[in-house]
Amino acid sequence: MYCDFLDIMEQVFVKVFTQRQNFRSIFVNVKTIHRTYRFELKPTQDQKVLLDKHFGCVRYVYNHFLNERKEQYQENKKSDNYYAQAKTLTKLKKQEETIWLKEVNSQTLQFALRSLDTAYLNFFRGNAKFPRFKSKKRKNSFTVPQHSKLIEGKVYIPKFKGGITCIVHREVKGELGKMTFSQTPTGSYFVSILTKEQYQPKEKTGAVCGVDLGIKDFAITSDGIQFKNNRYTKKYERNLAKAQKYLSRKQKGSHSFERQRRKVAKIHEKVSNTRQDVLHKVSHQLVSDYDLIALEDLNVKGMMSNRRLSKHIADASWGRFVRFLEYKSDWNDKQLVKINRWYPSSKTCNVCGWINQDLNLSVREWTCQNGHRLDRDENAAKNILNEGLKIISAGTVDNTGGDLNQTSFEKHRSVKPEAHLSLANG
Ligand SMILES: [Zn+2]
Repeated sequence: MYCDFLDIMEQVFVKVFTQRQNFRSIFVNVKTIHRTYRFELKPTQDQKVLLDKHFGCVRYVYNHFLNERKEQYQENKKSDNYYAQAKTLTKLKKQEETIWLKEVNSQTLQFALRSLDTAYLNFFRGNAKFPRFKSKKRKNSFTVPQHSKLIEGKVYIPKFKGGITCIVHREVKGELGKMTFSQTPTGSYFVSILTKEQYQPKEKTGAVCGVDLGIKDFAITSDGIQFKNNRYTKKYERNLAKAQKYLSRKQKGSHSFERQRRKVAKIHEKVSNTRQDVLHKVSHQLVSDYDLIALEDLNVKGMMSNRRLSKHIADASWGRFVRFLEYKSDWNDKQLVKINRWYPSSKTCNVCGWINQDLNLSVREWTCQNGHRLDRDENAAKNILNEGLKIISAGTVDNTGGDLNQTSFEKHRSVKPEAHLSLANG
């Protein structure tokens, strides 16, 4: 009796609560976003064996059915679709010679067929190359489309008893979707968890900025805020160079070569992870502080061919940074403007527009013909902002009052520049 009462009360509460959520979403701009979390896994020995079985079976299924499609196409100019292949897969699992497919989560195998189907569709739509056979040497991965849970630092998926220990270094919000398990060249295991989240975009600040890829620092804004490179990256990169030199002396295929190869891959992962941390922090900060961010549409590959710059560009991973900024500004309804990379942002004086044709890379500060004293990177960032605002105003009403250096946005800047420095240096 008492229990019934509690049940009813709970239902009432749930009803009121969800209604309020809906009510809120009408007035507050809540939107659905998809976020991916990536965590390292610490599987037991038995779990490692089972994970490897999953990688192997997924590869087998993908390759087997890709081959089937190819053969069918050669014979009758058409091949089985996903549904027909899923039926064949069920038969395959009953056959003696492929009965081991049963040891693996059936939805995972179906998902492999699904991704093969998608690869085919993308090829016929002209969006991708013809699907290739999966090899063990390239990335090992498999996907669990549903029925997975994350509870108290453990990932629970079908076929795995007791859950796999998972290093959850940030809080996971929202509804869990598919999970993708992978193994890196160093032998570490990772899980990527896709979530669906009700997200409240960040508040508008009224501030705008231009961002320039720094030579000395990672990046600088038109407000003169500098974002430093991660101090560990340089250290790891030195280690990497050393480890690679040792590797080149080892005999290919030998035991010690393999050991050294793993070492190199491990440092590689470290460099990549420390870089990613910086990119996440800086892009988060920029999207929080500004409503409009202008930046150059840099061709990283083109600049890599310039030997003097290559290390810095690689270190700063501009391309990845732009992608982070893209999806974060999308989530938060902020504007990202990319300007033509051939625009002479460093050579132009942002005050009077005079162009310094002789400016070379080593010059940090310079004075223009009309006596304006300029910091190289900050000047470039200001020009990028001006150019970005021009692009915006060309497409819409010009509400900048004509003077691009003193826009109505800038007067309302609400964030102290000092706030960024501690973050960038930390
Ligand atoms: Zn000037």
